[in-house]
Amino acid sequence: MAAVAGPEIERLIQLLARMPGLGPRSARRAALHLIKKREQLLGPLAEAMRVAAERIVVCSACGNVDTSDPCTLCADPRRDGSILVVVEDVSDLWALERAQAIKARYHVLGGTLSPLDGVGPGDLNLDRLVARVAEGEIREVILALNATVDGQTTAHYVTDLLSPHGVTVTRLAHGVPVGGELDYLDEGTLVAALRQRTAI
Ligand code: ZN
Repeated sequence: MAAVAGPEIERLIQLLARMPGLGPRSARRAALHLIKKREQLLGPLAEAMRVAAERIVVCSACGNVDTSDPCTLCADPRRDGSILVVVEDVSDLWALERAQAIKARYHVLGGTLSPLDGVGPGDLNLDRLVARVAEGEIREVILALNATVDGQTTAHYVTDLLSPHGVTVTRLAHGVPVGGELDYLDEGTLVAALRQRTAI
């Protein structure tokens, strides 16, 4: 595609186009918006990004990203240290926190087992998970993993890995989404929802 601006602006567009959900067209639109809002948006955003790039660290306890290690969640004494929620990615942790679903501690695996993509146990944050469980404070490990083949493969692997430690391992229910209509659901979801029915 022909350049419409100088190399500095083209570079901004190219970097924005690497963002998830932004193609080349929307990257151009975003770049133009930033340029037009130079004082209110472009400057503050550049400063926020510079600070973030300098200070962001991965929490050595849970694998979350924050500007302190241990992270804000690990350091929060009001959280229930007996429950550990295992997620694939930081985005899942953020989703659960947005929902204010549980005041527990987390563990970020950094992926799921995927033999087809060459992701094995050594590529995930599993040693640290076992070490945390072995410390003895955790009573329940909730596997909040995706309801995909890889997510469920990982759930089985982690369950086996933790079985010698006498901790209760649970996983999220599969079934009808809140506000969902039955005739829109796929067969797999319907079967899972029936199997995991609960008393009212
Ligand atoms: Zn942490």
